[in-house]
Amino acid sequence: MNAVDGSSHVPQDGLASELEEELPSLLVLVLDTSPLGWGAQSAGISLREAVASLLIFINSHLALNHSNEVAVIAAHPTCVKFLYPVPGEDYSTVTQKSSAAAGAEESLEETNSNGQSNGHNAVPSDASMYRQFRVVNESVMKQLELLLLATSPADIEHNGKMSDTTLMSGALSVSLAYINRLIGGVNDDGPKVRARIMVVSVCSDLSSQYVPIMNCIFAAQKMKVPIDICKIGNNTGFLEQAADTTGGVYMHLEHPRGMIQYLLTAFLPDRVLRKHLVLPTQSSIDFRAACFCHNRIVDIGYVCNICLSIYCQPPADGSCAICDTIFDPRNLADLLKKPVVVTAAAPKKAKKKKKKDSEAISSLTPGP
Ligand SMILES: [Zn+2]
Ligand SMILES: [Zn+2]
Repeated sequence: MNAVDGSSHVPQDGLASELEEELPSLLVLVLDTSPLGWGAQSAGISLREAVASLLIFINSHLALNHSNEVAVIAAHPTCVKFLYPVPGEDYSTVTQKSSAAAGAEESLEETNSNGQSNGHNAVPSDASMYRQFRVVNESVMKQLELLLLATSPADIEHNGKMSDTTLMSGALSVSLAYINRLIGGVNDDGPKVRARIMVVSVCSDLSSQYVPIMNCIFAAQKMKVPIDICKIGNNTGFLEQAADTTGGVYMHLEHPRGMIQYLLTAFLPDRVLRKHLVLPTQSSIDFRAACFCHNRIVDIGYVCNICLSIYCQPPADGSCAICDTIFDPRNLADLLKKPVVVTAAAPKKAKKKKKKDSEAISSLTPGP
């Protein structure tokens, strides 16, 4: 090809980037399916509307290149599940079956007297739809429906209260393992696919998963896999760090109803195209960490100098809970020292000074 277009003179770096540009792109979409998180967003956007926007986004990604691939993973409060591709499913036969079933579904829709589509028909089946679009759309809708139907109120309850936390660290681990399998390890020939992860998150608190999430971030950084974050609701510090460390895009949706516009403008270009674009950047990033003892986000913490574990207060037993290192009691005593209390004489001086000040003021005050 270089001989034809006369580009054989390009330097080695340019050639490498050109080869990278020709690689197919793999998008691993991690969808936060926390029922409580989406319930809190009901005024802005519902899960159904978000999924409809995401399916358009996925179809756009597949339309960019015939070889592009996609995987959709649900991060649920109880489990991590592949919405597409489903392990063990043969999609070549599914397409033939589904095209036969499409006619039946359409005739059922026509006989519906209300004229309203239910949740199952949120993405209408169309026999004329591009094969890959159809396979992905049907699989995501079907698996998501099964996942939500199998969720009970007890599943989202933690320690007696409802929680919107999902297994985000598990979903990121599964994404990285899937990418690693498709890339087939980085050998002499280089990777066979350009991979990236995109997270759509609604949950507000991930502090209990600080360590596993940070491990995933560093693994992604080493694999050169950017993590893009599409955040709905409150900002989450750890996800900001994920995008910053791996070179991904972090975007907090101010107007979630316009989600499709955010997706197509900020998240559709992959990492090769991004160097030619001006993409949104984070003005401020929350770099705070969570303590290993209570999983609380801390402003000032204590760090074990052997294993770098973070504590919100010096350990009471004088040893590290992670690596069992026994700390020097003198250092601990220094850390446990209380602030120096101002002596009794000092306020007197202050009082005197104050008096002087008042005298000065009074002397400046004009007499009668
Ligand atoms: Zn703590
Ligand atoms: Zn330690």
